[in-house]
Amino acid sequence: MQRSRAQTRFKISTKSRLSVRDITSQVHAAVPENMTGMATVFVEHTTAAVTVNECEKRLQSDFETALDGVINNTGWQHDELDGNADSHIRAMLIGASETIPIDSGELATGTWQSVLLIECDGPRTRTVSVTITPVANDQSSSMT
Ligand code: ZN
Repeated sequence: MQRSRAQTRFKISTKSRLSVRDITSQVHAAVPENMTGMATVFVEHTTAAVTVNECEKRLQSDFETALDGVINNTGWQHDELDGNADSHIRAMLIGASETIPIDSGELATGTWQSVLLIECDGPRTRTVSVTITPVANDQSSSMT
């Protein structure tokens, strides 16, 4: 899974067609100790997405319900190909990546913020990359 010290990849399995998974601990694990800079979290798929929000069970369920309701499940041209246009559209609306500030090896997120993988066409196993960009003058985060 390890590409270089500056980029880590991990896999995560999802259990249903639409679901929200907390990936904060996997992202944190990819951050070098004492590093200050940015972490770009990127999902390498066209029917899954990444966002930052509160990881609360009822809210996760509400988001799954909202996501299901906001896009029609049928009637799309891409469905002639593989029947999952709605999944692609949901993923496009959310986006494939988030950039998260890192302070001294810790995710500089707010109290209620978690990094969330949004599965739009599960169940599947998804690959997520975390690319680390140290601030230019940060002596503690040499990637050599
Ligand atoms: Zn498709």
